[in-house]
Amino acid sequence: MDIKSTDIEKIVRQVLESIGSDEKSASPAAIPATSRVAMLTKAEHFDIQEYPIPELGDDDILVKVEGCGVCGTDAHEFKRDPFSLIPVVLGHEGTGEIVKMGKDVKKDSAGKPLAIGDKVVTCMIFKDNPDITMFDLNKQNVGGADVYGLLPDDDKHLNGWFADYILIRGGSTVFNVSDLDLDSRILIEPCAVLIHAVERAKTTGILRFNSRVVVQGCGPIGLICIAILRTMGIENIVAVDGEAKRLDFAKLMGATETVNFKDHKGIEALTEAVKDAFGGYLADFAFQCTGSPVAHANIYKFIRNGGGLCELGFFINGGDATINPHFDICSKEITTVGSWVYTLRDYATTFDFLKRAKGIGLPIEKLITHKFPLDQINEALVTNLKMEGLKIAIVNE
Ligand SMILES: [Zn+2]
Repeated sequence: MDIKSTDIEKIVRQVLESIGSDEKSASPAAIPATSRVAMLTKAEHFDIQEYPIPELGDDDILVKVEGCGVCGTDAHEFKRDPFSLIPVVLGHEGTGEIVKMGKDVKKDSAGKPLAIGDKVVTCMIFKDNPDITMFDLNKQNVGGADVYGLLPDDDKHLNGWFADYILIRGGSTVFNVSDLDLDSRILIEPCAVLIHAVERAKTTGILRFNSRVVVQGCGPIGLICIAILRTMGIENIVAVDGEAKRLDFAKLMGATETVNFKDHKGIEALTEAVKDAFGGYLADFAFQCTGSPVAHANIYKFIRNGGGLCELGFFINGGDATINPHFDICSKEITTVGSWVYTLRDYATTFDFLKRAKGIGLPIEKLITHKFPLDQINEALVTNLKMEGLKIAIVNE
């Protein structure tokens, strides 16, 4: 028989738990009395602060943070506090290991058992609206829900993933993702955004296996979009961006052809380049993944009559875009959908996507181009603002 030491540890813990203490936890000595957090105390400045790890309620979970991605939202908040959250512990693309949980915690939000040592991610914190707590695509989106890492500071302080520990309160969504490696787990949140976008695109009835699809914008969002389309079996993908490095990456994620908009002067020439990349055809479907109003206005030109568009680039207000409704939508009969964040169900789909992407050899983990320890979080955010890499992550030892 081949029992690994980690298995033995798990068995011992389970036996100890069954003897019936109120709280389940890893060996108490392994949990320190305090946790560091990266507190954004003013614009462009995180302070590493230390707070006591509080007692757990019966439904609470204490997670030792392993890593957390830096999101564009974090960068906006870091730069000028547009969400008026300061002081705040940011970090919502995090993952870590359960080290302690209240006696009533048994299962995750998908019904999978939870135990000490399991790796988890959180999704959103329920309020009282049942429509956003459903695993149902037809229910409303999560616009009204809270997430860890974007919560106002409170007396517990362990509210975001840019920290050593995070306190997951009862009633939050939590998923057991022990079967995914750390890099994949750090990418779950942004991938869920794209799973949702593709689900929205599918509601048009236009997106098919043999569709010609253009993806405009090759930041992490556009690149993940390409990886998802490829993983679904869509072969004919053209990526559009202004950075050669990002376009190379788009090929790695499964784009068949790329178009650098800087090589083409004016929208007519750019449209011709996109058409050439598809062998003389316009796109059946387009994903708009930039926050640029001009890019939004341009993308209609790349789409054939009767085609479809999913707009998902404007997670913040980037201003008005000018289109011509006669040429761009009406006479072409373009079907347009918007996409916003994700649902719980998209989260579950994302876990499977990450495994399938690896299965077909897409190097998804390469999206994480920079890793910083927690005490270099200011440098991490500055690197993000300089747009030097793709996904920047904070990774704890
Ligand atoms: Zn995010």
